[in-house]
Amino acid sequence: MFVRVWGARGSISVAREDTVVYGGHTTCVEIRAGERLIIVDAGSGIRSLGKSLMAQEKGPVDADIFLSHTHLDHIAGLLMFEPFFKKKNVFRIHGPRSRSGKAIKDTIEAFFVHDYWPIGISSLTAATEWRDLEEGTYDMGGGLTVKTLLLEHPAPVLGYRFEYGGKSVALVFDHESYAPGNARVIPFLQGADLVVFDSQYTEEEYFNGKQGWGHSSFEGAIATTEKAGVKKTLLFFHHDPDRTDEALAALEKKYAKKSTIEHVYAAKENAVYEV
Ligand SMILES: [Zn+2]
Ligand SMILES: [Zn+2]
Repeated sequence: MFVRVWGARGSISVAREDTVVYGGHTTCVEIRAGERLIIVDAGSGIRSLGKSLMAQEKGPVDADIFLSHTHLDHIAGLLMFEPFFKKKNVFRIHGPRSRSGKAIKDTIEAFFVHDYWPIGISSLTAATEWRDLEEGTYDMGGGLTVKTLLLEHPAPVLGYRFEYGGKSVALVFDHESYAPGNARVIPFLQGADLVVFDSQYTEEEYFNGKQGWGHSSFEGAIATTEKAGVKKTLLFFHHDPDRTDEALAALEKKYAKKSTIEHVYAAKENAVYEV
């Protein structure tokens, strides 16, 4: 499997000189499992992924899009994804129901109305199919399995674990590792080859007024993944919009040294990680 990061920033996209290394786009991760294309989240980073897919011109695009949740930093780029506007393309869009039980399609549809955006999801010309996911295990066919887990956040968020060819990639964002429900994340991540984990804050920042905001820390990401027996790769993710490249590089180095996991990186926009 290959994992490519198109956006690793949390909360809001940023475009400053001191964010060019790790990138300023909000959450979007591309996963290749054999021939399968999986996209997790549609933050502003999905626009660049769309441009890249259009440039490749290898025939119709067929992909599964998994939305962790519908907070703006995770869906803002959805209707800027060019492959949605080409006929023969096919997308299956998956996500959790809202707290009130609204289907993922309805929550998205309710946001992309003319008061907030010039076009709605009825403007898409590609074939789309929307699926509500609960906690569980889904056989996606072709040897691909996805497991889902509800995380700790002010809105329902699904963590995803993709398993293919004996390898596994798990994504945990947005999630508050200090909440009691974090205990359920440990078995969910058990032995995963690559984990992408919400690390918006340092522990010190978290305990200085960020409790209850639904995010984790570098320390929380390491503690949870190590308890889950993750050995190979941990990617810090959902970087704080105020965090500069210099600060992020220093934190990446500091926490990599403290961890027993072989590769510990702060996720970088455009970087590819092989699993
Ligand atoms: Zn977020
Ligand atoms: Zn959120």
